[in-house]
Amino acid sequence: MQFGKSNAKVYVESTTGITFNDVAGEDEAKELLTEIVDFLHNPGKYQEIGAVCPKGALLVGPPGTGKTLLAKAVAGEANVPFFSISGSEFVEMFVGMGASKVRDLFKQANEKAPCIVFIDEIDTIGKKRDSQGYSGNDEREQTLNQLLTEMDGFDASKGVVILAATNRPDSLDPALLRPGRFDRRIPVELPDLKGREEILRVHARKVKLSDDVDFNAIARAASGASGAELANMVNEAALRAVRDNRKFVTQADLEESIEVVIAGYQKKNKVLSTKEKLIVSYHEIGHALVAALQTNSAPVTKITIIPRTSGALGYTMQVDEEERNLMSKEEIENKIATLTGGRCAEELIFDSVTTGASNDIEQATKLARAMITRFGMSDRFGMVALETQVNPYLGGDSSLSCSPDTASTIDDMVVATVKEAYDRAMKLLSDNKGKLHELAKYLYEKETITGEEFMYILNKKEYLEEKS
Ligand code: ADP
Ligand code: MG
Ligand code: ZN
Repeated sequence: MQFGKSNAKVYVESTTGITFNDVAGEDEAKELLTEIVDFLHNPGKYQEIGAVCPKGALLVGPPGTGKTLLAKAVAGEANVPFFSISGSEFVEMFVGMGASKVRDLFKQANEKAPCIVFIDEIDTIGKKRDSQGYSGNDEREQTLNQLLTEMDGFDASKGVVILAATNRPDSLDPALLRPGRFDRRIPVELPDLKGREEILRVHARKVKLSDDVDFNAIARAASGASGAELANMVNEAALRAVRDNRKFVTQADLEESIEVVIAGYQKKNKVLSTKEKLIVSYHEIGHALVAALQTNSAPVTKITIIPRTSGALGYTMQVDEEERNLMSKEEIENKIATLTGGRCAEELIFDSVTTGASNDIEQATKLARAMITRFGMSDRFGMVALETQVNPYLGGDSSLSCSPDTASTIDDMVVATVKEAYDRAMKLLSDNKGKLHELAKYLYEKETITGEEFMYILNKKEYLEEKS
């Protein structure tokens, strides 16, 4: 058994040879990482102007989405040494070893700068520290403290960039996320249809394929699969071809391997059935369409039906043009209508409703209640505070300060407000049912659409003619 410095060499890995070309999809993550590559290429450019480049970036996303691969690709692109260690390696050490390993790692990195230090599975050492009675794991705590110290201590201008990866960002100690440490978060999400197709192609580069292979069809069927699972599918298909003594991988091989891999991952990841995918498409378009029809502008930047780590099945990203601090009564009412739009679409098209709207319901109710109890936006109560916010910084819980009678009136009014918004959203959607169908089908096909695509379809010429 070797101790401390003597086995330090294990960190050194020469340049990885992996580039962004080996990472399919994940364009947003690649874009965010490009700046780091540029910094490693010519730190002088940044120093000259006085800019401090980020010391660390945290890759966050579900397992198998290519976080490790991306980190290696950054090293490959920048053509610098890559020091990698996994969080669990620190913990299995003898007492005191973790901290000294960290010290060692950074010492070496400093000598080899410019270079990249990659800490995989950082949550194993970076878990939140308990303030009271920790479970006797001060080894881990010492390691974490050492890491924090090293991160603060080293000189970023030398060109050492620290990347880390985790699939459990919520469990990280906040100290790690402070400015000057891992202050950049790079989301690495599950791939959408286009991404899945690209990943299949990247991994099929080395595989002999028959002419009937249709990657689009395979990608379509593998909705919800991660990059690692897609890579696995290609390999499973190749193994199947070998087993059958064939020289080429066929479409049937690939189809078969989806099932092999899906059976393995159904429990882990959310894989939407075709029907569910359709419902989620209509639901998300419902939100976006109600929002767009109310304001006559592009209120959405992106709509996707790729299941998220958060548990959401679909997601409509709305970004206001400018930062908003004040909202008018009308705007809040519109927002409530938008929130109900998802459920409206489900009811309108499928004539039945699902559990998918629970978060929308919660938000709509909160807004409607706040209008009446806190924002003085009801005729009935006017500017009377019926509820006070206990602590606006911590979750914003509020406490009721009115008689039980009033409380029940408030409840009735909340119900009426949401109902009114719902009816309005329903009318907007049934008046524009054609567009709802068209947009939902399009989203179902593409899985992710941009706000521009959405507005284009919504405002196409035929549509304008049809209206007039
Ligand atoms: P993570 O670190 O996010 O768990 P990895 O980077 O270890 O995932 O990915 C495992 C493997 O899956 C990679 O080595 C690669 O073969 C494949 N893979 C994952 N995502 C991608 C992608 N976006 N493009 C190409 N291959 C990918
Ligand atoms: Mg990994
Ligand atoms: Zn919704």
